[in-house]
Amino acid sequence: MKIHCSSCIQHPILVEAPGGQHDGPTAKISLVEWASVQSIIHRSSIEAMLTDAGLLPTGAQRQANSLSTLLAKTKLLRSEPHEILSNHQNPSGLAFTDQNASKMSELETEYESVTLGAIARKAAQLPNQPPKTTPFVQFFCCIDERECSFRRHLEGSTNLLSPGEGIETFGVPGFFDFPIRHKSAKGDLECTLAPEGNHPPHKVMECWRDNTQSTQWNKKRRLLAQLETQWETWSFCPIRSVILSLVGCIPALINMVLMCCFPTLKRKIVEQIYGEQPETEFENPFTVEESADKLARTLKNIGLYTPDKYGHCIVVLGHGSRTVNNPFDAAHNCGACGGREGGPNARLIASVGNDRQVRASLAERHGISIPDHTHFVGGYHDTSSELVDLYDLDRLPQHLVSSFSKIRRIIDEARGRNALERCGKFMLFKNDKKGDNVNGYMKVDGDDKASALEHVCT
Ligand SMILES: [Zn+2]
Repeated sequence: MKIHCSSCIQHPILVEAPGGQHDGPTAKISLVEWASVQSIIHRSSIEAMLTDAGLLPTGAQRQANSLSTLLAKTKLLRSEPHEILSNHQNPSGLAFTDQNASKMSELETEYESVTLGAIARKAAQLPNQPPKTTPFVQFFCCIDERECSFRRHLEGSTNLLSPGEGIETFGVPGFFDFPIRHKSAKGDLECTLAPEGNHPPHKVMECWRDNTQSTQWNKKRRLLAQLETQWETWSFCPIRSVILSLVGCIPALINMVLMCCFPTLKRKIVEQIYGEQPETEFENPFTVEESADKLARTLKNIGLYTPDKYGHCIVVLGHGSRTVNNPFDAAHNCGACGGREGGPNARLIASVGNDRQVRASLAERHGISIPDHTHFVGGYHDTSSELVDLYDLDRLPQHLVSSFSKIRRIIDEARGRNALERCGKFMLFKNDKKGDNVNGYMKVDGDDKASALEHVCT
């Protein structure tokens, strides 16, 4: 057996094993022996790289402990004050040189002067620049890559607009600078909606707007949950499972057929059984000044600091991905919300943006005036099903009620085109650039185990 160190031509390592696979029985190598060879290869590679870099002596001058002597001088802990780096995610001393927070401002300055400067100069030289448009609607979406194609299709839905109107999208970390703990009215466990490592002191508690309606809805949910639990309990019992298979085989068969072949129909039936969820309410846990400061930071970062840059409506979309039995569930949700769904954060920043007191504080403390006609709408985008839920639409201002249907159509078209693009990537459907089949493909249910099959069957 020959093993050569790939990164080190001048330090080949040759290991001869007794026999071989062609001329005798294969040698048995213990794990310790294998690890020993691996460590020799790695050490040899490191020594060769350090020698090339002039950090280790060569030939006879090299001592047996040269490498360990050099590594002993490496910093294992940072020397910066703890508070500067408390949130830094690369605590390793070996990552000190390239990933340290002290380098951050230098890197940002370099990025601003080199990269952004080059883009600005190039943009200024471009001929036939499109005429300036007034934003009809603006979208704040998360910077996660799951939202990139959706943003592209939102910006491309201009065929629904009048001349001179435009659609703008902005990438913002999906917690929208409002780190919160969230407790839903449905009784779900409290969760943190903030980047990993945060322990937000502010808690958003949802409650029902209409107690009578919510009581009836909760009774129905409880009853259905008890039925499901009983079904599961019976299925584990040797005697009752026989009765269940005799009595419940027909409903189970119908459920399986619906799930496999008609997932959208099944979703509609379930929605009809459960009924529509009652509206909820919450209070902003941040003070007016805190809210204004946080909102100002986001608006300044994306360049919305003068009234002429605002459209009539700003739709803020948190995102997530609802799947079943998926061990990578958190990876598909919003990274800025700690691997959870960012809908509540979007709803909170929309509420803050519509608050007259916050707007007054924003103008006073930060010089940012949001026009009176601009209204924020919070929402949630499910990237597995392309469903978009919009919150608090009953609170739309009068001037936006009629034009909001156009915003709905823009979102629906982007959902459909995005679904088509994703289907094309999974070879489930040839991407239809004309969008003729958009409406048929966007009604997909990511909650259902058979949602992918629906793409094929439709
Ligand atoms: Zn996100």
